[in-house]
Amino acid sequence: MWQQKWVMGNWKMNGRQAANAALLSALRALPASDALVGVAVPAVYITQAAAALADSAVWVGAQDVSRFGDNGAYTGEVSAAMLADAGVQFVLLGHSERRQYFGEDNVLLQTKWQHAVAAGLVPILCVGETLTQREAGEAEAVVAEQLSLLAALKADTVAVAYEPVWAIGTGQVATVAQIGDMHGFIYRQILSLCGESAKIRVLYGGSVNAENAAAILAVPGVDGALVGGASLQAAAFATIIDAAQ
Ligand code: PGA
Repeated sequence: MWQQKWVMGNWKMNGRQAANAALLSALRALPASDALVGVAVPAVYITQAAAALADSAVWVGAQDVSRFGDNGAYTGEVSAAMLADAGVQFVLLGHSERRQYFGEDNVLLQTKWQHAVAAGLVPILCVGETLTQREAGEAEAVVAEQLSLLAALKADTVAVAYEPVWAIGTGQVATVAQIGDMHGFIYRQILSLCGESAKIRVLYGGSVNAENAAAILAVPGVDGALVGGASLQAAAFATIIDAAQ
């Protein structure tokens, strides 16, 4: 899996059981792909997705995980152990929407990463700068600071999604030059934080769609895509997966 392209959908807070069923059965019916394919669904629909995708190659993901492990008096929380028990294989961590609306920071994300890994989940750490930060020439510094939490984790497998905040849900995609430069930078950072033998995947996210996926996935250092809006449309998502062969 550390050689494959990854195409991961992020449904965000979207879905209803009937619509999910149609989307999941379309995913299940896709021809076998060289890419690792997954969908991060709202927590309440994880069991539905796990049942619909049982014995398929498609991974089920969560969009977040509790900072608390296992069980306990933490009303409203869903632990990594529960996610694993429900059939989840990967979890998004530190998506910019969680950083923005829920104040997630490196200390918190480090704890979440540890719980995810302890439960056997693959964490995908989301990083990315805002437009203001990019225009101020701070994009690399911001991303480096977000990646710095890896230092203490002694991770030898690291999946990161680079999602410039200004490209998420806006239709404004980073240029292939911007993507290539940042992915190269992220690779160098991870290798220096985690060691030269680290296994790495760096996905790009931010307005990836059926039309632009092939060009983005062809950029050196782009190991896949994290797809929001387009993952809600079976045909668009299938085209993106196709582009990742
Ligand atoms: P988008 O979202 O593809 O709708 O821009 C990507 C993401 O936020 O993961």
